[in-house]
Amino acid sequence: MIDLRSDTVTRPTKAMLEAMFTAQVGDDVFGDDPTVNALEKMASEMFGMEAALFCPSGTMTNQIAINVHTRPGDEVICHKYAHIYYYEGGAIMRNSGASVCLLDGPRGLITAGEVERHINPDDVHRPVTSLVEVENSMNKGGGTLYKYDELVSISNVCRKHGLKFHLDGARLFNALVETGEKPDAYGRLFDSVSVCLSKGLGAPTGSLLMGNKQFIRQARRVRKAFGGGMRQAGYLAAAGIYALTNNIDRLKMDNERARYLGNVLSKLSFVEMVIPVETNIVIFRLREKDGANEFLAVLRDHNIHALQMDPQTVRFVSHLDFTDEMLQKTELVLKKI
Ligand SMILES: *Cc1c(COP(=O)(O)O)cnc(C)c1O
Repeated sequence: MIDLRSDTVTRPTKAMLEAMFTAQVGDDVFGDDPTVNALEKMASEMFGMEAALFCPSGTMTNQIAINVHTRPGDEVICHKYAHIYYYEGGAIMRNSGASVCLLDGPRGLITAGEVERHINPDDVHRPVTSLVEVENSMNKGGGTLYKYDELVSISNVCRKHGLKFHLDGARLFNALVETGEKPDAYGRLFDSVSVCLSKGLGAPTGSLLMGNKQFIRQARRVRKAFGGGMRQAGYLAAAGIYALTNNIDRLKMDNERARYLGNVLSKLSFVEMVIPVETNIVIFRLREKDGANEFLAVLRDHNIHALQMDPQTVRFVSHLDFTDEMLQKTELVLKKI
């Protein structure tokens, strides 16, 4: 089976399982799990931030950050396709009672100018703008990348207006291997950073939230209230340590395979448009209106699985378990359709 639906489908390798199997554990809600503590220390040092918190999912790290940074009734500025809004089950409103100010922008990206124009004035009629969020790489935009300078500008706007700035870096490492930037360059810009261990990094589950000590202390409280306090979580944290140690550099291969697929697709007569591939996500529109279902069915007949984004648009995501042989087979199948 060739599974291009998402980079969340990876399974732990033997070496990762070995690291999990031999992990030292304790009760992490009491702060007693040495492996969780080691992972949190490793991540916070990597990003040059004071502290980190290990959580079950990226939805939880994002929503904890939103909960800590806002009060009910406040407004969060983000792109209309941001994962925190579009793909997290209404959690901003459900869990934090905050509202959103949704910006538009090509390929899922927002700009400092747009952010500044949408900050509400200090007027009792208007919700209080308290948080700005960006996603890098930007999933629904096509795995797109922010220019670092733009993020610096947005960060400056946030500081000037006293707003918090959160990064949904679910796939930040796919971005970093592409641009050569270092994690601490990101730690400097944001009040909180979330990264996923269970996407391209190949861990079975888990995400990390980083910030200053006071933020993480509050985040720990919110994690408990959201039901995310885990006990002998060191078995999972060991997978995270393994992933951060061994699986970052190889993300470059995933990005390359995605770029290759994008190239193949762009030459096919039934493909109308491929969003330029910048990381490990390939989003493309078919020529035929409502053609996605039929296209996906043909792929399924060859045991290739992908996701529909809308009736005419399909997404491929490359990852740790998508090999060169699979890439070749996918290319052959696509060229025969
Ligand atoms: C996958 C993902 C998340 C987190 O998803 P979980 O499944 O809750 O871990 C957050 N943001 C983006 C952009 C993602 O792609």
